[in-house]
Amino acid sequence: MPTAKTKTPRNHPQYEFRPSQLEMAEAVESALENRRHLIAEAGTGTGKTLAYLVPIIRSGRRVVISTGTKNLQEQIFFKDIPFLNKLFPGLRATLMKGRQNYLCRQKLYDIEKQPALSGLEEVELVGEIREWEKRTETGDRAELENLPDSSDLWRQIDARRETCTGQKCAQFERCFITWMHQRAAESNLIIVNHHLFFADLALKQMEFASLLPDYAALVFDEAHEMEDVATRYFGLQVSNYRVEELARDTEAALRQKQLDAREVMRAVREMRRRGDLFFELFPKGEGRSSFTNREAFLDAHRGDYSALLNALEGLKTELKRLKERPEEINRLAERAGELTEAFGFVLESKERNFVYWWERRGRGVFLEASPIDVSAILRERLFDKVETVILTSATLAVGGTFDFLKRRLGLQQPQEKIFASHFNYTEQALLYTPQHLPDPREPNFAAAAAVEVGEILKASRGRAFVLFTSRQQMNEVYQRVRPHVRFPLLLQGTAPRTSLLDRFRRTPHAVLFATSSFWQGVDVQGQQLSAVIIDRLPFAVPTDPVVSARVRLINEDGGNAFTDYQVPEAVISLKQGFGRLIRSVNDRGLLALLDHRMVRKPYGKVFFETLPPYKRTNVLEEVKNFMRKC
Ligand code: SF4
Repeated sequence: MPTAKTKTPRNHPQYEFRPSQLEMAEAVESALENRRHLIAEAGTGTGKTLAYLVPIIRSGRRVVISTGTKNLQEQIFFKDIPFLNKLFPGLRATLMKGRQNYLCRQKLYDIEKQPALSGLEEVELVGEIREWEKRTETGDRAELENLPDSSDLWRQIDARRETCTGQKCAQFERCFITWMHQRAAESNLIIVNHHLFFADLALKQMEFASLLPDYAALVFDEAHEMEDVATRYFGLQVSNYRVEELARDTEAALRQKQLDAREVMRAVREMRRRGDLFFELFPKGEGRSSFTNREAFLDAHRGDYSALLNALEGLKTELKRLKERPEEINRLAERAGELTEAFGFVLESKERNFVYWWERRGRGVFLEASPIDVSAILRERLFDKVETVILTSATLAVGGTFDFLKRRLGLQQPQEKIFASHFNYTEQALLYTPQHLPDPREPNFAAAAAVEVGEILKASRGRAFVLFTSRQQMNEVYQRVRPHVRFPLLLQGTAPRTSLLDRFRRTPHAVLFATSSFWQGVDVQGQQLSAVIIDRLPFAVPTDPVVSARVRLINEDGGNAFTDYQVPEAVISLKQGFGRLIRSVNDRGLLALLDHRMVRKPYGKVFFETLPPYKRTNVLEEVKNFMRKC
């Protein structure tokens, strides 16, 4: 077991004693010792990462840590672990990302033999990757500085499961995925993210090889995201992209293996054509729609659907008919079979715990089957299987209890603890809830909200996030505010997320208008962010197919979906959104909610009870006075 050489205070230059951090470390230690599950809400600034890492390392057991974001995953691996390594010299940790992040050696060798590269740039990039492949120990694309984020070339040579031939591959022993698995098996700590963890857990159930070795305990950091991610990976999806990927991978394999397979090529063309015709049946227009009318849809379009399934079957047959059949070809035939089964489930399954829906996004049409309630799945596959699961985040409790989280995730009788934040919220933040604006559901709300936003921005001298629950509202308020303020305004959608955030950090007095993706995981410390304005209480869109299926199920089971699900969900989202403001003991600033329902409606009490104890006002003059000191 690794042991600390010296005590932490002498080893960390910025160390300050935080009682909550010590209490949380003790709670984690007790959960590990007693083999119990633990829910630990730790307010921002508690130092929760070290609070769980230290007792875990001291336990000497192998523990998986799963984070909501890649950022946190990398922060733990590249910042916290090296620091702890000095104190616990025996410590071994592995960072694991999704398979698409790693190079497939076999595909690289294949592509070199039969180059199908578009232009000089790709040829040069392949040369660079070839050199890198000889010396890299991880095969992680993050080491390749010149590789564009959305590289078509990388898609052809990454280590995706769909195209991997596993133990039958000639490179298996020296494959980067095999090495990663071996490193993990020799490590005390394995750092993953929720996407990888749940993808792995879902695959385990299908009796495919798991990426993760056995472990004794599990920590979910940013655990408020678990239900969403689990829903995604325990569901099934088919799309026009998935059909196209199978077509492209088949063509590439035939080219690289130099196989003369005219019948297979004909089957690929037929699958593509049938796929296009089938997905064209779905109406135009972005957004998610419920697919409760699947039977009527199939009655009307049985011919198109059957033709697509036949085309998939035809491709599988032709691939299997090839005399020369390298393992890649067998894998493609398997994939054609898996895709047929997925279509069957999404369009024909009668499973009652699933909601069926479809979505158009850009050029994609996605048909999905999502579990309505993941609690039974998580209880059976996770909480009953692993001795100690620790759930932590700054936003888990609602109204002082974890009942909502436990119900949604199927977690029974865990140890529970709320650890106070290290910040003095009453001094550091003012919560402004104006009462003179119309109800946000009224058509004149956007105009009135724009005037109010303008006033608040003058008081805060810009330096604000203005966050919205819908893109339409964001655009309307932005257009109305723009002519009236003199601060640099940034709008989500006009540039990639990271570059917008960079510009926000670098531009004095900047204001960023954004929607849901900026509510979480964004960290801007200091005066550059001095106000967070939110347009309305962030209730999930009731017409969203997954939300409406959950509401229906809870009500049918005798519960009250509004108080049991919709309010607690919105409470956690609001706390996340407001959490962007105070990121250090020196931060000060304003939080504004333009939705008067939080004060006027009885359920508003839960929001106030859950948020940190900010100082409160309904008066704009007080806001102006407060902001003069920020
Ligand atoms: S084992 Fe799979 S991922 Fe690894 S080199 Fe072979 S095909 Fe690629």
